[in-house]
Amino acid sequence: MLIVMKADATEREVADVVHIIQELGFRAHPVPGEQRTAVCITGNQGAVDPSHFENLPGVAEAIRVSKPYKLITLDLKPEKTIVRVGDATIGGEELAIIAGPCAIESRAQAFAVAEAVRRSGARFFRGGAFKPRTSPYAFQGLGEEGLKILADVREAYGLKIVTEALDEHGVDLVERYGDVIQLGARNMQNFTLLKRAGRSHLPVLLKRGLSATLDEWLLAAEYIMGEGNYNVILCERGVRTFAQHTRNTLDLAAVPAVRRLSHLPVVVDPSHGTGHNYMVAPLARAGVATGADGLIIEVHDQPEKALSDGAQALTLEQYERLVTEVRAIHEVIAPAPVG
Ligand code: PEP
Ligand code: MN
Repeated sequence: MLIVMKADATEREVADVVHIIQELGFRAHPVPGEQRTAVCITGNQGAVDPSHFENLPGVAEAIRVSKPYKLITLDLKPEKTIVRVGDATIGGEELAIIAGPCAIESRAQAFAVAEAVRRSGARFFRGGAFKPRTSPYAFQGLGEEGLKILADVREAYGLKIVTEALDEHGVDLVERYGDVIQLGARNMQNFTLLKRAGRSHLPVLLKRGLSATLDEWLLAAEYIMGEGNYNVILCERGVRTFAQHTRNTLDLAAVPAVRRLSHLPVVVDPSHGTGHNYMVAPLARAGVATGADGLIIEVHDQPEKALSDGAQALTLEQYERLVTEVRAIHEVIAPAPVG
């Protein structure tokens, strides 16, 4: 159930609605919007009787939710969510660029890439310290040592750190050293991990699962939000199909599909989405053209020596050129400022 408050409802009236929901044994999620506040109810097994709320002061209407999700929806919040990470944003007017190597390999490598990322004007640096590798014999990441290097990159360049947590302990560590928790494709339905991230104060970048439907992906976001963390960024990174010319099939239709249902920002990963260096720029440009809020791109100072995902890494020069192009595309398609 969704309780939509009147535009002029007072804070006290919203608090009363929240209190009644809690008295019924459910969880209340008050979400302020530009026009009005809506309060979403979770934790109820069956339908909630609207008569508890309909006649309360400040309540405009109590709506039964017929969709499988509640918190990600435009019904709850018609305006787009802007995720704020310090002074940087994802989902705002600026195209968010998250760039860096697949894995943090050494201090020298991380700093060489971060220098170019900073120079490009991007606000976010990516890099895995814990790598989910298909083979147990492949490089698994530097672990906490990698996170310390990332924290130093943040200090040196003022970039916000986006890095993956593979498990609940990993979330504790990312909270200590990073700015945004990345939950990877392989963990999209790791429900205990989703709930742990939902109790974090850090935003979560939620990658689409290897073969996840739109509903499964959005319901994974609901797990995070249901715990009270509303700062979720969705990331389309391609899904497994019969295609053999790409590592994954980047589903750019997911961007408008998400947009139609959800207020959450959505970013595109053309690196894992294609797996090939020569495909990254075209798909990145296309991703921005679909209206994505940002890109997450793998960049390496020496791709041929990369310890993971070298084949899809952009060189520093390719990356810098791409940033100029995607910014120009974003300028063209961004909605004109109001007023
Ligand atoms: C990554 O971003 O390095 C990564 C492992 O991505 P995904 O979870 O999408 O495979
Ligand atoms: Mn990678």
